[in-house]
Amino acid sequence: MSGIYDAVIVGGGHNALVAAAYLAGAGKRVIVLERLGHLGGAAVSERPWPGVDARLSRYSYLVSLLPPQIIRDLDLRRRRYSSYTPDPLDATRGLLVDNADAVATTASFLRATGDAREAERFAAFSDRLLPLAAAVFPTMTEPLRRESDMRGLVGDADLWESLTTRPVGVLLRASLQSDLARGVALTDGLIGTFSHADDSSLRQNRCFLYHVIGGGTGDWDVPVGGMGSVSGALEGAARAAGAELRTHAPVEAIDPDGVVRLASGEEIAGRLVLSGVGPAVLERLI
Ligand SMILES: Cc1cc2nc3c(=O)[nH]c(=O)nc-3n(C[C@H](O)[C@H](O)[C@H](O)COP(=O)(O)OP(=O)(O)OC[C@H]3O[C@@H](n4cnc5c(N)ncnc54)[C@H](O)[C@@H]3O)c2cc1C
Repeated sequence: MSGIYDAVIVGGGHNALVAAAYLAGAGKRVIVLERLGHLGGAAVSERPWPGVDARLSRYSYLVSLLPPQIIRDLDLRRRRYSSYTPDPLDATRGLLVDNADAVATTASFLRATGDAREAERFAAFSDRLLPLAAAVFPTMTEPLRRESDMRGLVGDADLWESLTTRPVGVLLRASLQSDLARGVALTDGLIGTFSHADDSSLRQNRCFLYHVIGGGTGDWDVPVGGMGSVSGALEGAARAAGAELRTHAPVEAIDPDGVVRLASGEEIAGRLVLSGVGPAVLERLI
């Protein structure tokens, strides 16, 4: 056994790195154990084109959900073009939502849907989400609130019900008239899920909420250099604070008394063991 740590952190994704940086910064002896050869979990970048120095997010991509005290040192940009959606019926047309040019966006809605008023509906729908974002986002770094508290905080009871008790498809059909615009809005609900607009599990609603509350405005801020630069900055902060970060260190089992066993057979003991892996992985390890 390699001595007792104050905290042994299993998994080396961005949440583990944040925990390691804060704990080591508070003077605790901390070790992070990551099974892969690199840190960052799903927040990593890739250079997809040989010879081109462009680093793009590989899986997760937007950083608006990270609280400002954590992202102060990152180089973030707001995206001017929030989306381009090709028309499935005519590949030469598409809907471009340009955050910096409302006239061009309206013209694009007219071309793509035949209805300039749809741009107004789309803008009104986005505006309706703003107070929700402003109310919900600050609670992300607070202890979890009761549902009734959240409803009161949001103010718009009808919107809250639509997002938490019914599939979001109902709200989208009532708010927008063209399937193309509904599809663009639904991107926020489906991206990264295996769900659909009317899924009764409401997985798509949770995904939708995550995408529209970021930063208290719902703006999609993205990091220059992709999500790998976020994890890189967090890794640097954790190392600078004195945390020990180990890669190629797959954990095989966690003993409830605080002993973590690696696949190599090595055992590491901690006063606390923190999980930086998904619940299903944690269950298997315990
Ligand atoms: C396709 C996709 C898109 C997403 N887009 C966004 C987005 O745009 N913005 C956003 O905020 N969130 C997004 N998310 C969610 C976000 O990626 C996750 O919430 C975040 O990565 C969770 O971080 P984590 O550190 O908790 O876990 P993870 O990133 O999952 O990291 C867990 C780490 O534990 C390691 N591990 C697993 N098992 C073991 C073991 N036995 N021993 C040692 N190490 C182990 C893994 O290798 C991994 O490095 C997206 C997720 C996906 C899948």
